[in-house]
Amino acid sequence: MKNLYDLPPASLETTLRDFVSPPFRIRQIEEWMYVHGADSFDAMSNLPRELRASLAEHFSLAFPEPIEQTTPAVDGSRKYLFKLADGNRIESVYMPIGDRTSVCLSSQAGCAVGCTFCVTGFFGAGRNLTPAEMVGQFFTIRREHHIAPEMMNVVFMGMGEPLLNFDNLVIALDIMSRTVAPKRMTVSTSGIIPGIDALAKLAHPPHLAVSINAPDRKRREEIMPITSKYPLDELIAALKRFGRDITAEYVLLAGYNDAPQDAVALAKLLRGLKVKVNAIPFNEDPNLPPWMKRPSDAAIDRFVDTLVRNGVRTTVRRSKGREIAAACGQLRGKSELPKRRVNRAVRVQPAREERDPLHRERR
Ligand code: SAH
Ligand code: SF4
Repeated sequence: MKNLYDLPPASLETTLRDFVSPPFRIRQIEEWMYVHGADSFDAMSNLPRELRASLAEHFSLAFPEPIEQTTPAVDGSRKYLFKLADGNRIESVYMPIGDRTSVCLSSQAGCAVGCTFCVTGFFGAGRNLTPAEMVGQFFTIRREHHIAPEMMNVVFMGMGEPLLNFDNLVIALDIMSRTVAPKRMTVSTSGIIPGIDALAKLAHPPHLAVSINAPDRKRREEIMPITSKYPLDELIAALKRFGRDITAEYVLLAGYNDAPQDAVALAKLLRGLKVKVNAIPFNEDPNLPPWMKRPSDAAIDRFVDTLVRNGVRTTVRRSKGREIAAACGQLRGKSELPKRRVNRAVRVQPAREERDPLHRERR
């Protein structure tokens, strides 16, 4: 059965025209869906009962089912586990931040990009989420916490690579933009260049965040194998073409990319971009390579200070959700068997001398 949330809002009317009249009824349905996030026709209390029944025979409005949530972390954030109709499981995070609330959404039920520091990458590829599955996470969390729509921020930083699910992503953004301004929606990418170019062509592009994570091509290739497909210099060129303010995410790994000279190199790499860096101390997880550690607070401060002194605006995601394992994939990871543990064990770990910052300096 067709889920109406899978349609671009602009084609809802054409689809419903044969079933619904007069036309103002379609406006009512749109309002129930896009403003209120109704997940059943029964909820549409101002529609005639027969119309609700006939719609329910032809269409669905189903969202993923929330099956588990963590107890709130000290900062109030909570992680949700949703079950999809085919049994796949995905995660979302609710994060109250001052007056505003951010929800972090998944775009795929796994990720084929395979970054070595990421639990979602560790468990391997998963299918694209449908638009209904993406907006379902948003509306479900919004309802559960009675959040006023105008107080929401949306970030696609959960499981998956949003720009590898581009068409569905655009439909989901379009639906959510009925209540959330595009500049309050962030799409985070590992650097899929054709997707970045396509995003730039949208009438109202969302804010773009790019996971840079390393100050040079060599190290980026080690921890983000996608770099060999979309080289770092070409990625930077694409970000320049994008033309708008962006956020560069940078996962800090102790002794690997957190030295002051790495901050200097990062500042140089980003020169000429309208950019703010979001430094994310690595979130440890038993599924990830044991050498990967969160830097000490002193090392994080040193890194950030160096960036700032080199003229880069920088924020640090201190420990938001650390208690609830808020990096993507970690809740699902607790109860899941990896699809490719064997491959990973051989592939992930760079040679010891490559990880040693002193050694790097000497080269
Ligand atoms: N696929 C997209 C969006 C999801 S990942 C992307 O890669 O940007 C969202 C962010 O979480 C990315 O910046 C990624 O680098 C970061 N991340 C992944 N695993 C992490 C971990 N274990 N600790 C800290 N940050 C992590
Ligand atoms: Fe995929 Fe992003 Fe994780 Fe990389 S960091 S594996 S792109 S979800």
